[in-house]
Amino acid sequence: MTLLEQKRNFDAIIERIEKARLHVSDHHIVKIVAASKYVGVEEIKALYAIGQRAFGENKVQDMKTKVEALDDYPLEWHFIGNLQKNKINTLLSLNPQLLHSIDSLDIAHALNERLVREGKILRALVQVNSAYEKSKSGFTPEEFKDAYAQIIEQCPALHLQGVMSIGAHTDEIDVIKKSFEITRSLFDKLPNATICSMGMSSDFELAIACGSTMVRLGSILFNH
Ligand SMILES: *Cc1c(COP(=O)(O)O)cnc(C)c1O
Repeated sequence: MTLLEQKRNFDAIIERIEKARLHVSDHHIVKIVAASKYVGVEEIKALYAIGQRAFGENKVQDMKTKVEALDDYPLEWHFIGNLQKNKINTLLSLNPQLLHSIDSLDIAHALNERLVREGKILRALVQVNSAYEKSKSGFTPEEFKDAYAQIIEQCPALHLQGVMSIGAHTDEIDVIKKSFEITRSLFDKLPNATICSMGMSSDFELAIACGSTMVRLGSILFNH
C-alpha cells in the first residue's frame, strides 16, 4: 500500500469503529492496538505517521527488535501472545504498556516474583478462553473469576485491568457473539476493571457491539 492508500484504509477502519461504538453509546470508547506481528519497522513508522500509537506483538524477541529500533518514537507496546517463563526477563526489560495474556497462575506468580525483585509493576489482563477451544490459551469461563481474584491477592506487582479474549474461530456469527458475551459478562463482574480486550480484523464490530473497549487489529490494518 502507498501511504495514501494506507491512510484511506485506516480512516475507513476508524469510521467503522466509530459507527460500532456510537451504536453502543456516545460514551463507549474503544482503543485500537495495531497487531504489528506481520510487519517490520518501516510499516510501523508509516502507521505512526498517520496517528497510531499503540502496537501489539505476540513474540517477545520480535517485540524487542521493534522496540529497540523504534526507541525514538513515543509508542506504547502491548504484549498479546503466549508468554513463556524463559522470556519474562526480556519482556520486562522492554517495559510494556500492557500484557494482555495472563493464561495461568503459574505465569502470574513467575511474573510477580520477577517484578517484586526489580521493584516494578506491570499492567495486565487475564485471558479467558470463552470459546472453549483446545487450541486457545486462557482460563475457562468457570475458572476465570477465582483465578482473577487469586492473582489480585497473591501477585500485588501485577496490576490487573480486565480481561482479554479471542473470539470463537468459526463463521457462525451466533457462536462468535456468544463467546464475546461470555467475556463481557465476566468483565462486568470484576472489581475496578476498565479494559475488555476483544475483537480482531474479522470480528471487531461484533466485539464492540458486545462491549469491547480495546480491539487488536492486524491483517486489516496492514493488508496481510
Ligand atoms: C495477530 C493477533 C491479532 C490480530 O489478528 P488479525 O486477525 O490479523 O487482526 C489479535 N490478537 C492476537 C492475540 C493476535 O495474535
